[in-house]
Amino acid sequence: MKTVGILGGGQLARMMALSAAPLGLRFLVLDTAADACAGQFAPMVVGDYTDEAALAEFASKIDVATFDFENVPAESAQWLATRVPVFPSPRALAVAQDRLAEKTLFRELGIPVPDFADIDSRAALDAAVVKLGTPCILKTRRLGYDGKGQFRIKSPADVDAAWDALGAQAGTVGLILEGFVVFQRELSVVAVRGQDGEFRAWPLTENWHVDGVLSASLAPARVDDAMNAVAMSHARKLAEALDYVGVFALELFCRDGVLLANELAPRVHNSGHWTIEGSETSQFQNHLRAVLGLPLGDTRMLGVACMLNWIGAMPDAAAVLGEASGHWHDYGKQPRAGRKVGHATLRADTAHELAEALMRVGAALDRHAQVAPVIARLRD
Ligand code: ATP
Ligand code: MG
Ligand code: MG
Repeated sequence: MKTVGILGGGQLARMMALSAAPLGLRFLVLDTAADACAGQFAPMVVGDYTDEAALAEFASKIDVATFDFENVPAESAQWLATRVPVFPSPRALAVAQDRLAEKTLFRELGIPVPDFADIDSRAALDAAVVKLGTPCILKTRRLGYDGKGQFRIKSPADVDAAWDALGAQAGTVGLILEGFVVFQRELSVVAVRGQDGEFRAWPLTENWHVDGVLSASLAPARVDDAMNAVAMSHARKLAEALDYVGVFALELFCRDGVLLANELAPRVHNSGHWTIEGSETSQFQNHLRAVLGLPLGDTRMLGVACMLNWIGAMPDAAAVLGEASGHWHDYGKQPRAGRKVGHATLRADTAHELAEALMRVGAALDRHAQVAPVIARLRD
């Protein structure tokens, strides 16, 4: 029986462990927090990702390593790779950890990106704001997630506040300025690549964010075949360029019919949670198959699916569980403002049925704002 080591013990590790138990796998999670939610289902090593003793203990007990957390220091991933196979590779991880390296690679591959500039000083920021224009977004190059480490510059008057908020990080994690994209839609490709190079993608997903945090996802995204093909081709090109192994997500903005790449998540992704019940093989199961060199499962889906994220605290489960294809996921985390604590997936055979189910759930949970854009899209 093989043991998969997972760096990071959040909900992604937890869902990996839950989905792959039937494959006869064991897991070992490394996390800095003893109460990490994956620890409810898998043994843990508690320690810092840079702590050699913790890493050595972790490495000695596993057959292969992967990630739930993309911000594990690249040097730690490299150190681990000298002892056990690590997927995705430390190189792919390093590119995805740095918004500047990632956008530079997208551009080299001919994948359009929003305008961006490397910011290493206040003078560079002033010059870039003039060049890119406002609105724009200042982001840390590394370590951001769920919209953290970002400052929206609506007009030149906001530059001082942006520098106050993030300037100190210019010399540490680095900064990047991006043009603000007035997009009509956000989309993501969730895809998997095997050790033999086999590539499979789930149907394109449309996503809605609130304050930089994912709120809802709908699959399949209602886009035409040509746009779908472009999105898939970008994802495939990227996976091949990085010799990527495992599941990843490519986040895209759709502006006036053009797809601009936002970022690459080198791991299973929140916009792929619907695949647990909505597709033949979930992203979690396929990620582990890829990491272990097993044949990949089919990524086709049945009907349509919508995932709703629960942020801060769990709502009451009854309304979702009362739906014919309503599925509930409670990550077993302590409630905290802004924290992802669970999600629900609703599946249906038709767009009309899914919209009706979302109406009922939105009303029962008093979450009209969360379900409204999805219902509007389903009724387009
Ligand atoms: P996560 O990794 O959780 O997806 P993150 O912290 O890496 O989030 P981004 O994906 O860069 O952050 O940004 C979060 C959201 O903020 C995006 O999904 C999008 O809604 C909005 N956003 C980010 N960059 C831009 C941009 N240049 N123009 C318009 N909107 C943006
Ligand atoms: Mg990100
Ligand atoms: Mg993102």
